[in-house]
Amino acid sequence: MTEHPTHAIPSYLNAEALGPWGSYLEQVERVTPYLGKLSKWVETLKRPKRSLIVDIPVELDNGTIAHFEGYRVQHNTSRGPGKGGVRFHQEVTLSEVMALAAWMSVKCAAVSLPFGGAKGGIRIDPRNYSRGELERITRRYTSEIGSIIGPNKDIPAPDVNTNAQTMAWMMDTYSMNEGGTTTGVVTGKPVSLGGSLGRVEATGRGVYVVGCEAAHDAGIAIEGARIVIQGFGNVGGTAARLFYDAGAKVIAIQDHTGALHNANGLDVLALTKHAEETGGIAGAPDAEQISPADFWALETELLIPAALESQINLENANTVRAKIVVEGANGPTTPDADDILTSKGTIIVPDVLANAGGVTVSYFEWVQDFSSFFWTEPEINHRLEAMMRTAYTSVSAVAKEHAVSLRTAAFITACTRILEAREVRGLYP
Ligand code: NAD
Repeated sequence: MTEHPTHAIPSYLNAEALGPWGSYLEQVERVTPYLGKLSKWVETLKRPKRSLIVDIPVELDNGTIAHFEGYRVQHNTSRGPGKGGVRFHQEVTLSEVMALAAWMSVKCAAVSLPFGGAKGGIRIDPRNYSRGELERITRRYTSEIGSIIGPNKDIPAPDVNTNAQTMAWMMDTYSMNEGGTTTGVVTGKPVSLGGSLGRVEATGRGVYVVGCEAAHDAGIAIEGARIVIQGFGNVGGTAARLFYDAGAKVIAIQDHTGALHNANGLDVLALTKHAEETGGIAGAPDAEQISPADFWALETELLIPAALESQINLENANTVRAKIVVEGANGPTTPDADDILTSKGTIIVPDVLANAGGVTVSYFEWVQDFSSFFWTEPEINHRLEAMMRTAYTSVSAVAKEHAVSLRTAAFITACTRILEAREVRGLYP
């Protein structure tokens, strides 16, 4: 008997180690029982709509020719054009990009942005290449994926090791090929080129907003609440300053240089200045240096991992004494640790909701580029806060309705929205 093609596993999924893509598939399995009649369409979430692998030949500064492998994956575009960053990393694989694209579908739908999910990457260690080489690599990559990206098709943005300059090169290359300046093809651009005000702080601001909402639901006042933050960069640093301004006590911060603690609250503004001047928080006054183990075990109202993935894991989950974990980073809690924390009654605001502030302001950037009309920073922050609050409220209502965690509720909310769009659009032909 021939297996029905819908249920055949595509060859590229048949790998021994599915890695992050395997984790994503597991998450979809877990929410399927909650999708009701829409589960008929769930297979659409288990395979990317389009995966492109491109060869990027570039002449290096020394005259030799090097070839790099690049990817662009559009996981799902049922609700709108694909949206997701471009990562430059020596360990990027197609499978990883597929998972990251899928999580973008979930994130955009969880916050109700009119986007699908996409992601891209180049297998390269950018530290080994000159600025000129990186520009040529970026431009050739953009040209190679040019036929599948565009303001109405798929809109890249910065991710690990890419930045506003990378986006400027991508936008320029796409525009040259199209024959007209097309600012809306990427987001995260410099403000001088159609970028949005407020984008830099957007993710940290979103973390702050959903952190306040979760605290409110748990009957915790932000003023005087203890906050512990891992990561003092874009996300962690912004969240720290916003909680500090709101009267919370940021009692500990960890970055790559160490962990600092002050039970009466750190002076976040002085710490920001110290980190800017010295490259990290280590050695700042009025705080004691603590070990990583002591850092994770601090009793606190809010714990905000905002640095790397898998930081809360089997080794430290049992020691965590936070009432609420707000995931600023992507994937900071391993599934095993998630189970431990959930069984202890810890509330976890999941990454797909908590760190969606960045893509939300990317959405604002795209809208502003379309209309060529730019909003003020207070206007952007106001709209961001409203969208984050609405997203939190709807996910939280689903969690209560099904008596599930906020993570499962975010996936139920997102997958339902994606599959409703899929169903009402129908299949072509
Ligand atoms: P960043 O580079 O600005 O800051 C990273 C911080 O993590 C730094 O303070 C660094 O010192 C710290 N860090 C690095 N290694 C560490 C270690 N071993 N132990 C403790 N701290 C360490 O990065 P970011 O933009 O703030 O991103 C942080 C996380 O948030 C990442 O997971 C990223 O994917 C995620 N995220 C970022 C955005 C965004 O808009 N920037 C959006 C969504 C998700």
